[in-house]
Amino acid sequence: MNVLVINAGSSSLKYQLLNVDTGEVFAKGNAERIGIDGSFIGHQEKGGDKEKLVVELPDHKTAIKHIFEIIDGLGVQVDGIGHRVVQGGWYFPSSAVVDDVALAQVREVAPLAPLHNYAEADVVQICRELYPELGNVIVPDTAFHYDMPERAWRYALPRDVVDRLHIRKYGAHGTSHRFIWRAVNKFSEGKVHKLVSCHLGSGASLCAIEDGHSMDTTMGLTPLDGLIMGTRTGTLDPATVFYLQRVGGYTVDEVDTMMNKQSGLAALSAISSDSRDIEEAAEKGDANAELALDMFAYRCAQLVLEMAQAMEGFDTMAFSAGIGENSDDMRARICEKLGWMGVKIDAQKNAIRSDEIRDISAEDSKIRVLVVPTNEELMIAMDVQELLS
Ligand code: ADP
Repeated sequence: MNVLVINAGSSSLKYQLLNVDTGEVFAKGNAERIGIDGSFIGHQEKGGDKEKLVVELPDHKTAIKHIFEIIDGLGVQVDGIGHRVVQGGWYFPSSAVVDDVALAQVREVAPLAPLHNYAEADVVQICRELYPELGNVIVPDTAFHYDMPERAWRYALPRDVVDRLHIRKYGAHGTSHRFIWRAVNKFSEGKVHKLVSCHLGSGASLCAIEDGHSMDTTMGLTPLDGLIMGTRTGTLDPATVFYLQRVGGYTVDEVDTMMNKQSGLAALSAISSDSRDIEEAAEKGDANAELALDMFAYRCAQLVLEMAQAMEGFDTMAFSAGIGENSDDMRARICEKLGWMGVKIDAQKNAIRSDEIRDISAEDSKIRVLVVPTNEELMIAMDVQELLS
């Protein structure tokens, strides 16, 4: 089955056309600056170079039409469409075939993720209208965490407030954590039982996965919670929010922007949100860059233990996403901090670069440490295949 996977943002639209059975990617790309001057589609076909197609993209509908035109040119039949949805709220314990009800639910929970859900719902609707013969499936990033134990998802706020506003830990990156579990389970031939999955990209979260079930995760009501990220604060004292407003004179929107877009590694390093730039500066002796990396590793190691506690132990940990898959330096920093409790990696194995899942543990490590290339698009496409066939 060939599936078109769509990941819509407010002004961008990523796509990938792949075959679920073989994992073969026929084409992928990103429509950028939708509704803004200077829009274009960055497109790449299997074995080809990236091309930049300058096209006017006043809205998502135009972007989708262009993408389908490009795909028609490939001569590959599309059998279904999978849509990443950032926030499934209180409605989606799993992926779902789109109908009017599901679409209304994606919109209803959109206040929890306004920058994403509205655009995603619009794009689903456009696909249904333009290509009624194709089935659409939504894959919420929160679904994997839906059934976490109540002690993990409940916030200690007044019950009436929590109930009225649907406040809870929803988590995120669920599609990635689910893929990571499956990959680790296959790689370890079913021997994994309690996994701490570390998705470390510009957004970063950890998940405690016991026998395939999410037991806790580090992101909360929104993806701002947990680990320090590229530009996000991660966890801090919630009173900081009132203090910034009352004493600092910042508005709610300014605090929102500050915490989501101007903080994290970018703020700590005062260099960049990109860990490659920070690693380069740290190597040259930049103290802020070194502190940023050390703090990231410190918080990550603390959160590994928080996740382990959710399962009362762990046998395996997995590093994934941009930083987790590519930065041997960050993996070494994190594992060194966990060395006291028996996490040990083999420096030579850690230095190997590969696109394959691999074991980097030292022989006498108490915990198996793996590097796992994540593939959210394939996971989404697998859900489409399962639900549409
Ligand atoms: P997202 O999908 O959330 O945008 P990614 O998973 O692509 O994020 O991860 C982006 C992060 O991964 C950036 O901080 C980037 O610096 C880091 N990264 C990517 N490649 C490397 C590398 N070779 N070495 C170190 N960090 C890397």
